[in-house]
Amino acid sequence: MPVDTHCPYCALQCGMRLDGRRVEPRDFPVNRGGLCQKGWTAATLLDSPGRLTTPLVRTGGELRETTWDHALDLVAGCLAALRAEHGPDAVAVFGGGGLTNEKAYLLGKFARVALGTSRIDYNGRFCMSSAAAAGLRAFGLDRGLPFPVTDLAGADVVLLAGANPAETMPPFLQHLSGAELIVVDPRRSATAESAALHLRPAPGTDLALALGILHAVVADGHVDTAYLDRRTTGFAQAWRIAAGWWPERAERVTGVAAADQRRAAALLAGAGNAYVLTARGTEQHARGSDTVSAWINLALALGLPGRAGSGFGCLTGQGNGQGGREHGQKADQLPGYRRLDDPAARAHVAGVWGVDPAELPGPGPSAYELLDSLSPGQALLVFGSNPVVSAPHAAHVTERLAALDLLVVADVVLSETARAADVVLPVTQWAEEDGTLTNLEGRILLRRKAVGPPAGVRTDLDVLHGLATRLGQPAERFPVDAEEVFDELRRASAGGPADYSGVSYDRLRAGEALHWPVPGPGHPGTPRAFLDSFAHPDGRARLVPVDHSGPAEPPDAEFPLSATTGRVLAHYQSGAQTRLVPELVAAVPDVFVEVHPDTAGRAGLADGDLAAVASRRGEVRARVRCVESLRPDVVFLPFHFPDAGRANLLTNPALDPVSRMPEFKVCAVRLSPVDDAVEGAA
Ligand code: SF4
Repeated sequence: MPVDTHCPYCALQCGMRLDGRRVEPRDFPVNRGGLCQKGWTAATLLDSPGRLTTPLVRTGGELRETTWDHALDLVAGCLAALRAEHGPDAVAVFGGGGLTNEKAYLLGKFARVALGTSRIDYNGRFCMSSAAAAGLRAFGLDRGLPFPVTDLAGADVVLLAGANPAETMPPFLQHLSGAELIVVDPRRSATAESAALHLRPAPGTDLALALGILHAVVADGHVDTAYLDRRTTGFAQAWRIAAGWWPERAERVTGVAAADQRRAAALLAGAGNAYVLTARGTEQHARGSDTVSAWINLALALGLPGRAGSGFGCLTGQGNGQGGREHGQKADQLPGYRRLDDPAARAHVAGVWGVDPAELPGPGPSAYELLDSLSPGQALLVFGSNPVVSAPHAAHVTERLAALDLLVVADVVLSETARAADVVLPVTQWAEEDGTLTNLEGRILLRRKAVGPPAGVRTDLDVLHGLATRLGQPAERFPVDAEEVFDELRRASAGGPADYSGVSYDRLRAGEALHWPVPGPGHPGTPRAFLDSFAHPDGRARLVPVDHSGPAEPPDAEFPLSATTGRVLAHYQSGAQTRLVPELVAAVPDVFVEVHPDTAGRAGLADGDLAAVASRRGEVRARVRCVESLRPDVVFLPFHFPDAGRANLLTNPALDPVSRMPEFKVCAVRLSPVDDAVEGAA
């Protein structure tokens, strides 16, 4: 019997139909019958030989098969002993932006109630946190796209800052087909190929570019002063800084011609309908929050956010990147996008959980800080994440994981992090379980169970239930049924910024399009969030005064190039799943490094040669791809690959002061040849 479901990978959450193991595209608003290569091949993972089906426990240095009871008894016993000896914060939890809303919710509850630890964060910190922080301070609410994706079809001009949807979510491009694109990217990406205007700033200088374009908007008389007066505050303070960034000065810093900055300003200002959209390229910086604020300031000066047919938004990356940050697996949050340090929020959620608010721990460290602090005498539980590949300064993170007394990984496949674990718990995946996700436009989707899981596999909810009861929690406090968990999530989120109280499985089964907030069973949802007012108490958006300061690690004589990282069409995130799909491996089998031919030549390299790319933190071996259109001062590596091909061996864990986002998108490196013959013999 065919079942309507959604793709397991990115935040576009394309609609598909699964008939046994056959994937068919479905006419759903975000994809309208389109799927990318990853979606078409998604069912391969259901029967992959790499699929985990038995719990594993490390014995004598090897991971060996065991029973569920033995694995869960062992984990619960170790957790209880570590807590008794070192306190509740000796146990940490690391979640993922691909987990369903129900899993993210129950994981946060498990950490704070069953473990009593403050130390829980998730890999979405590495993905959306700068955009979330900037959205919150500008608009008072963080919803990636505060409008349906289909609204983009009416755009005349769209500025994409650090986004490459032609590779990351190809079906999304159909919504942009009527618009002139301005693409901001140091690479001539597949998206930039189709742009009316491609701006190539040096990595780490996007903020200066946004200031230069804002300056041109003001100087050339394009500011929407009536909108600023009516709907915003803070323009004068923001302009005080942008006034010093005339386009010629911004050109000296960014390398983007002043004329192109003015052209971008004129294109946006001359459009009847225009959007500014950001993504990881501009967000994953040690000043990522300020950089997104600079793009928001530009959009506000043009009067775009909260206007029908125009707007500002950020393109969420992971499948449940939006919902995953709303329901309590983030270090500082409770369900419903409530703040953990808000006494009223604590009282409300503690009431739903049936615990004393005073028992709830306070905010804990952010993802990288949590990983960096792992020590002997501690344990870490990882759900749906692969930080050995996806965390910055990956060699250091791998060392910290090895220092733990206990590393437990719940996953579908034996990821690189699972390989390093003491206990591995095999769990169900997308098509084998019910659950909700919230896509990039804030729409809550029901991803229905379409096939039975392999024997021996349990759901993450079941795992949390098994551990919680072994730790002395009442069984009914940790339900295993996804709909039951969701009904509790609805109550916990009621009255919060991300209010799901009016969403039910029945409404989703009936096909209702529900974008949060949905504050009540009869509420129709909120597809367009800011049409009447923004979410600050005075209803106005805030322009935030921000200035350029450059990358945390600029190139120098020893490391003269800037490395930037990103994704390719055939792979998803750390690649743990897509590297098990033969068609995707055939398309892109291994890591590579894109280099301008002149830069390669100066390093003694040519197309196809094996290169060593070294930063202050590590070295990656990668084949050179000479790319004429790349800036000569930049190299690019995809981050999906394991072992010596991990791009994150290079990356800089310098953190954004607001979002705690690491600086994935720029670090200083040098290139050198590797003797292929010697390497091959080694
Ligand atoms: S990976 Fe993203 S764009 Fe590709 S099919 Fe899946 S949801 Fe759609």
